[in-house]
Amino acid sequence: MKISFYTFGCLVNSYETQKLKEIFIKHGDEVVENIDSDAVIINSCAVTGSAEKHVQELITRLKKKNFSRIIAVIGCYGEILKKNEKTFLPDVDILLGNDKFGIYEKIHAYARGRRQESGRASRLSQPTELPHSSLSGFVQIQNGCDNRCSFCIVPHLRGNSVSRPPQEIRKELQDMAAQGCREIALVGLNIGLYRKDGYDLSNILQMADEIQSIERIRLSSLEPMDVNSNFVEEFSKIEKLVSHLHIPLQSGSERILKQMNRNYRFEDYLYTITKIRDKMPGIAITTDIIVGFPGETEKDFQESMRNIIRCEFSDIHIFKYSMRKGTPAALMDNQITEHQKTSRAALLKGIKWQTKYNYNYNFLGQIEEASLFKPIEETCWEGITKHNIPVLVQNENGCLNGKFNVKITGISAGHEVLTGEVVS
Ligand code: SF4
Repeated sequence: MKISFYTFGCLVNSYETQKLKEIFIKHGDEVVENIDSDAVIINSCAVTGSAEKHVQELITRLKKKNFSRIIAVIGCYGEILKKNEKTFLPDVDILLGNDKFGIYEKIHAYARGRRQESGRASRLSQPTELPHSSLSGFVQIQNGCDNRCSFCIVPHLRGNSVSRPPQEIRKELQDMAAQGCREIALVGLNIGLYRKDGYDLSNILQMADEIQSIERIRLSSLEPMDVNSNFVEEFSKIEKLVSHLHIPLQSGSERILKQMNRNYRFEDYLYTITKIRDKMPGIAITTDIIVGFPGETEKDFQESMRNIIRCEFSDIHIFKYSMRKGTPAALMDNQITEHQKTSRAALLKGIKWQTKYNYNYNFLGQIEEASLFKPIEETCWEGITKHNIPVLVQNENGCLNGKFNVKITGISAGHEVLTGEVVS
């Protein structure tokens, strides 16, 4: 069968899609990037209402294009649909939640059922090659979350924190390295909670660091309550760690942080990132901010904006608060209107662009190490710098694939991308 995937949401979903693709390919199916497939698997997200809407729109589009194609929804939105039996998506043939690794059997059983119904001869799958080794990949080390932020549906859908055994992680890292993978992202829903057999996150980082052919290590987001001075000390010793951490602040207002049940004060957050910058000068720190949390007054929002500016983030991911049924915040009084949320998000966007420009401007004229792996055109390659900023590099002399030193010569109009030339 030809299978295609759509993945929404966090890096854990990306990792799980990667693993699912491997399962299908190992069993002789063909994973295709285009929409010309027998079945589509949508690995969904439910962190906001708009994430759910994107999935619904995609399903309608896919079904319109090819009515007979099998559509499967897995992941967090699938989990919500399963729990709420009244919710029904007529175009979905298979619905699984986060028990998504059963999807291989489900799809094949469904296809067999259809073939029997239509009396068609079954089409034999030809074994295909495993995917070409990629220079970068994900390794999931943890799942779930023990925190209970009042706005967040994730622990209700993924459960409490569970950490993978260190030996299993080591084996996966070694296998990926042996297949040519040079960049590893260690991912989980809340990787700061990693604890297993006496190992914590810094031990796992050391483990990845010790594998010689791995050149770079990335981390998925770290919650501020888990970043203590011991972590900072240990992180700073890992040379292969990219110079970037994503640490969600969620709000710069002390009162709103309390309402969100985030268990830290803004000043604690600022102290933590200041310590990180002392140990790792120039590191990129990005964050998530929710605007329009229930009860967020104009005064709270102004305080939040002032404090966000103080953090000098290299990028800010802005989310309008999205009411998630079953969370404490959904029951709070003083829900903010959509109009207010939109205008606050727009104001914060201004800060985002300024702070992003300020950070990226520092690299003009500098030599940055970058991994170049994606050809955009014949003479232009896209890559990512050590500080996790996308970079476009012109190259007239053919293939560029690997790690290079790039002289940064410009910043794109939206401040999103650096441009440069390879110097060595
Ligand atoms: S730390 Fe809070 S926001 Fe993050 S996954 Fe856990 S409960 Fe959700």
